[in-house]
Amino acid sequence: MKNRKSVTVIGSGIIGLTSAIALQEAGFEVRILTKELFNKSLSHKVGAVWFPYSIEPKEKTARWAAISYERYKRESAFADGVSMISFLNAYTNLHEEKWVNQLPPGTVREASLTELPTGMEKGLIADVPLTEPPLYLPYLVQKFLESGGKIELRTFSSVTELAELNTWVVNCTGLGAKAICQDEDLHPMRGQILRAEKLEISSFADPTRKGALSYLINRSEDSVIGGTDYDDDWNELEDPEDTLRILDRLKNFGVHQKPRILETIVGLRPKRSAVRFEFDPDHPSIFHNYGHGGAGYTVAWGCATELAESLLLANEKKNQSG
Ligand SMILES: Cc1cc2nc3c(=O)[nH]c(=O)nc-3n(C[C@H](O)[C@H](O)[C@H](O)COP(=O)(O)OP(=O)(O)OC[C@H]3O[C@@H](n4cnc5c(N)ncnc54)[C@H](O)[C@@H]3O)c2cc1C
Repeated sequence: MKNRKSVTVIGSGIIGLTSAIALQEAGFEVRILTKELFNKSLSHKVGAVWFPYSIEPKEKTARWAAISYERYKRESAFADGVSMISFLNAYTNLHEEKWVNQLPPGTVREASLTELPTGMEKGLIADVPLTEPPLYLPYLVQKFLESGGKIELRTFSSVTELAELNTWVVNCTGLGAKAICQDEDLHPMRGQILRAEKLEISSFADPTRKGALSYLINRSEDSVIGGTDYDDDWNELEDPEDTLRILDRLKNFGVHQKPRILETIVGLRPKRSAVRFEFDPDHPSIFHNYGHGGAGYTVAWGCATELAESLLLANEKKNQSG
């Protein structure tokens, strides 16, 4: 490794960009190499609200989510595309509500009966960060470039290729890591969402029923209505049947205002039994940071912060050993 304080981040979605900035903040010189620019990534297409949905392992993701919550809350005072919103989440007695433990004390309360959408039996209301990717990702890119970062297009096909780079390497390629790492655990969880003209209803989610994920996220200029949660489904095309199901579920929640749909979007969540967050066992200059499932935004800053700490330590050790 020629320059020990240089890092190459692979990927420019939310995980790549936050990793790159946290590494700059820790004093590293960082460049990003990516197959496509941030505006073509999955991260650009989605909600995105802070909620630890469909991500493992809980003991780590809880910590990462709490760190991210605090970072977004601070950023909501000055960053583009970050705000705090009131978010209502359905729960059942079968569904453990551990996510509330990651919120600062006093921020969660039980929804009253009049606040619950039709058909929802129980709900918790909390102030959570909302990140609007079309505003927030360009903000992050600008911040990265202004701090001396560089971004170039390049596609990688194997871990060996990554190891040939003469720097530390952080692999943030999301679902792309399946081919790069031959990772059998990594698989898609297909999400279809509708972007609609803004609805005058508070944001809510009902993640309690597998196969019938429902949510509405109100952003500054539009609303995002979801969704689907199909495992191992690689279909990136819109399914008109899913659109009807999503609209039906919204209606069943008592929303009678017919949404004016602007766009139907499909994204494949990079799902794994556990986020891969570790040095490569065969190539110690590579750190893997991928597989964040349905909660990449929710945990991004927590992962980025711990990644920077790990790389600083590894860098020190490397320097000491000459
Ligand atoms: C419908 C839907 C709604 C969601 N809503 C939320 C939400 O509200 N809150 C939340 O926290 N999360 C949400 N998520 C999850 C979130 O979108 C993902 O967890 C997150 O975007 C993953 O980010 P990433 O940076 O790892 O991957 P990506 O955004 O996919 O970025 C991967 C990057 O790697 C690059 N790359 C890929 N392969 C290669 C290669 N071979 N060589 C070089 N570069 C490569 C790509 O070009 C890209 O820049 C949602 C997901 C979906 C599908």
